[in-house]
Amino acid sequence: MRLALYRRLLSFVRPHRWRMVLAIASSLIAATLDGYSFILLIPFLNRLFDQPSLPAQGGWLSRLLASTVGAYLDPSNPMRSLQNVILMLFGTVLVKNLFTWIAGTSSAQLQEYVTRDMRDAVYRHLQRLPLAYFTRMKVGQIISRVLSDTEQTKALVTALITQALQQTATVVVYVIVLFGISWKLTLIALCVAPMVTLSLQPLLKRLRTGYRNLRNESGEMMSVLQESVSGIRLVKSFGAEGYEEGRFIGASHKFSSGLVRMARIALVSQPVSETLGTLVTVVILWVGARQVLLYHSLQGAAFLVFLSMVLRLLIPVKGLSQIPATAQNAFASAERIFEILHAETEIERDRGSREVHAFQRAVVFENVSFSYETEPVLSDISFTAQKGDVIALVGSSGAGKSTLVDLIPRFYEPTAGRIRLDGVDIREIRLGSLRSLIGIVSQETVIFNDSVRNNIAYGSRRSYGQDEIEAAARAANAHGFITELPQGYDTALGERGARLSGGQRQRIAIARALLVDPPILILDEATSALDTESERLVQEAVDRLLEGRTVVVIAHRLSTVMHASEILVLERGRIIERGTHSRLLAQRGAYHRLYSLQFRDEEDPVPV
Ligand code: ADP
Repeated sequence: MRLALYRRLLSFVRPHRWRMVLAIASSLIAATLDGYSFILLIPFLNRLFDQPSLPAQGGWLSRLLASTVGAYLDPSNPMRSLQNVILMLFGTVLVKNLFTWIAGTSSAQLQEYVTRDMRDAVYRHLQRLPLAYFTRMKVGQIISRVLSDTEQTKALVTALITQALQQTATVVVYVIVLFGISWKLTLIALCVAPMVTLSLQPLLKRLRTGYRNLRNESGEMMSVLQESVSGIRLVKSFGAEGYEEGRFIGASHKFSSGLVRMARIALVSQPVSETLGTLVTVVILWVGARQVLLYHSLQGAAFLVFLSMVLRLLIPVKGLSQIPATAQNAFASAERIFEILHAETEIERDRGSREVHAFQRAVVFENVSFSYETEPVLSDISFTAQKGDVIALVGSSGAGKSTLVDLIPRFYEPTAGRIRLDGVDIREIRLGSLRSLIGIVSQETVIFNDSVRNNIAYGSRRSYGQDEIEAAARAANAHGFITELPQGYDTALGERGARLSGGQRQRIAIARALLVDPPILILDEATSALDTESERLVQEAVDRLLEGRTVVVIAHRLSTVMHASEILVLERGRIIERGTHSRLLAQRGAYHRLYSLQFRDEEDPVPV
């Protein structure tokens, strides 16, 4: 599991591999120069303590020093030698820092670009997931995955790829140098690493589960925020501010106490590793001092350098030992991201390969049944919409009308039976091809935060000219109010179309459909009553929209049902009556009852 996750992550790193190579190479060079700057202290200290400049025991370190600074060490002129060594030291540190900077910038680029790619990939994938995915997941949870989980996963790239490599490079170079100075002392120093990692294992397990819960809690918090902001009208009208505040504070506190709990566990690793580190230092001091003073097997200056390097080594070692803790958090996020990326998209699920370019004869439902879970929502639905027909669906709320129309563009697929378009099972038609024939005007008119023009030409498969957009707007009775807006067609519509009235929004939605001009139309008529004038304008626009199209409409208006070719009365997912308006009224059955409840209060031109 962990390995598979890594492989997926690496696929995001691959396009930036040159940057990674640069980061690694520069950190290696920086670490080497860093180690070298320490060795340079040996001749310096020796000069200071009036000892021979280079260690007497030989070894590769002395040879290295002899070949690099040997020429500048003049035994007869100690001050000059000191000055030379200092200059060398300064130069080395300068170049080292240049490489540290290069390593830093290239790893910063690496992690930001990887995060960006990941965020884009999650969003791209998300858009292509089937509708069912979105009804299962809360919006806040989705937002949290796209934005904060990708950000958290960045730590995995930072911690495990860049930091770990940099610190490992430092540790390796230091350890080599330390071995050069004294292998005995180095072996003792090396005991610290396994001790630290082993002692931290139980902590890591707890961190992993803890962080996963934490990510879910952060998603919960965003859900509450998103729900209350988008439903602010409802919140205010019900005076539910206090209730929502309680909900948010509840989620927020749960999140922060989770964070504190995790921090408490994560911070234990620091004192533990430091204590162990100090223990090792004490041992080295003891053994080293004996080597210098009793056995003279080590120069004082070399021991000093050894000690300071060991102390400095603790920083990257500590960093390395904390990486697993950081990684736990990032792994929890990465899992949430890959959960989205692994979900099958509509395209992947699409078994259809046929292309359709036009609609010629009929849409036919043949014994279609459907259930979301176990309960059947639609049972044995059969009807035919010939080209040019208007099929009106009526029935009480929850009868299955929206579910039925969702089957046509294959938002969901029937659990039994089939739907044919010009004789072809729609499952055999490529999804994109099928949807290009279908227009949807829904009750919940979404207006995007963009200009009027772009709202009308939303998501068009081709670009439309101003005259075409205007013609659509005119036909939708929208041109009039659009020209009265401050910047006409260029006026930016506010968040969720707040600046338009309900009727205006409906007319924009109708203009959108008129522009694309799909042969098949799914219409979900708005239930909310408009004032008479607005209602007349919308009705006119709807009539123009229906002209020459094959329509399946969830009907709420009298004029729609009156002119429908066939009315299907749905109850609990079954068609219980069917026929034209006048025939159904004459039957005095379910339709008659519905009619008296739903349509009666409208102006009634037909005597009952
Ligand atoms: P209508 O449009 O006639 O009001 P719907 O098609 O929306 O009816 O709903 C029909 C039934 O399916 C209802 O019982 C509803 O609770 C259920 N339902 C609708 N959407 C879902 C969904 N995404 N998951 C599970 N059940 C659903």
